[in-house]
Amino acid sequence: MSTVIRNKVHTAKKFYECDSCRRQISPGIKYRRIFGSAYASDPLRELKLCGGCTDIKETTGDGHSDIMFAG
Ligand SMILES: [Zn+2]
Repeated sequence: MSTVIRNKVHTAKKFYECDSCRRQISPGIKYRRIFGSAYASDPLRELKLCGGCTDIKETTGDGHSDIMFAG
């Protein structure tokens, strides 16, 4: 059971690395930022996923939705 605290689409302001495929996310590119853990026993951490690893859709409201963790 995964714990997702926050799950939102952001626009990169600098270079990031996708936590799933390790590809570079360039400034201006949308990516998904997730704060949570894959398992309840895992420490909370922030994950960044590129558009190739997760659906990038603009979310409305609080942006919460259930997604599968990639990788
Ligand atoms: Zn990726």
